Amino acid sequence: MHQAEVVVIGAGMAGLSLARDLMKSGIDVLCIDKSRGTGGRLASKRVMNEAFGVLAFDLGASSFQATNHSFKNFLVEAGDKVHRLSNGEYVAASRSSALTRELATGIRLECGQRITRIEYLEDQAEYPWKTFIQNNGEECLFSQSTYLVLATPPEQAYALVPQDHPYKSAFDYVETLPQWVSVFYVADDTFNTLGLDQVHAVNTPESSVIKRVSLESVKADRTPPEHGQGVLVKVEAQPMWSKARTDYDKEDIAQALWRALWEIKPVLKNEVGLDILDQPLYCYTHRWLYSLPQQNVLSRAGQVKGLNHLGPQENLCLCGDYLGMGRGLHGVEAAYLSGTSLAMALIQTRQGLSQKSDVSKNQGANNQGMGNKGMGNKGMGNKGMGNQ
Ligand SMILES: Cc1cc2nc3c(=O)[nH]c(=O)nc-3n(C[C@H](O)[C@H](O)[C@H](O)COP(=O)(O)OP(=O)(O)OC[C@H]3O[C@@H](n4cnc5c(N)ncnc54)[C@H](O)[C@@H]3O)c2cc1C
Repeated sequence: MHQAEVVVIGAGMAGLSLARDLMKSGIDVLCIDKSRGTGGRLASKRVMNEAFGVLAFDLGASSFQATNHSFKNFLVEAGDKVHRLSNGEYVAASRSSALTRELATGIRLECGQRITRIEYLEDQAEYPWKTFIQNNGEECLFSQSTYLVLATPPEQAYALVPQDHPYKSAFDYVETLPQWVSVFYVADDTFNTLGLDQVHAVNTPESSVIKRVSLESVKADRTPPEHGQGVLVKVEAQPMWSKARTDYDKEDIAQALWRALWEIKPVLKNEVGLDILDQPLYCYTHRWLYSLPQQNVLSRAGQVKGLNHLGPQENLCLCGDYLGMGRGLHGVEAAYLSGTSLAMALIQTRQGLSQKSDVSKNQGANNQGMGNKGMGNKGMGNKGMGNQ
């Protein structure tokens, strides 16, 4: 069983930017994630294919924006892990999760642990928050903490929040849309002429099926396929199209996305010079059940104005990309800023609490002195009496 002042559920961009700032301030923090590694929606995949060797690609965000100076500073500090594209977007190398691995340095991390329940023990002064996991069909206590942070998509936070908690109804305002993603390895003799700028190949807002196409194999430091010469083309489906097909078979989705890619072949040829042939050599398909948040749940519910929420009574806090939407931020940047703003709020709260306890200690000390002063007060009482 683990113990920390702050336990963070979720080691994506939001959870880890929060944990990093808390750790830097000397706060004991533990970050837990159900996946094998960090990154969340910045996750990448590395597969060993018999015919083509190692294929590595991002399944989540391939590139992202930075408008806020503190996020830009973080990207600058990440050095050669981050590259700026000519369209102003940024891309992490050799994969997007390089960003979360950077943030995770030195942080107490427990991966591969799915929290199934949380509980607040009101009458327990020390470490009132408990998290639980399932182990061989049995529920086990996994951690206890003073503060608990849910740094997950809102639907996953909803599943954990206790039934009668006010967050529960606030979450009614949010929907995180699903998204299918297929990565095709295609033969193409332009493979060695493409540059990093072609990562972000095309946006296709007019297509009802495809949202965006990126070229994964052009990312810096990517291991080139050992055999064969081709390009990894990542196709992100439109969220509404994905929503209507959430339970489809991966193979059916891959075929539909390939057909849709084939239809925009002229656009690809025109924009990046990519001339795909009639069949992919390899395909990997993934469903993100929660990909793109649609509403800033808590600000709409009138409960919070900021990028995070620090629960006033029970120290149950929220952060994540969805909280940035009301501020015109989105995606990776929103997640980062939500985490760092919650860190600041928590640090200030702790400082406030320790100042309060210093004040009350002083008051205690003064009160002892005031015992004497109190005597003087008696004199004031006398004055009062004199006033009568
Ligand atoms: C296909 C795709 C394309 C995208 N494209 C872009 C883009 O172009 N630009 C952009 O800015 N953004 C993009 N995004 C969005 C961006 O990736 C996310 O906004 C950002 O990574 C969210 O970070 P987060 O920390 O808020 O949440 P997440 O990354 O979702 O992290 C939450 C973590 O919580 C963990 N978790 C959940 N429940 C539990 C539990 N019960 N126990 C333990 N762990 C749990 C999850 O495993 C996950 O690691 C894209 C996302 C996807 C999927």
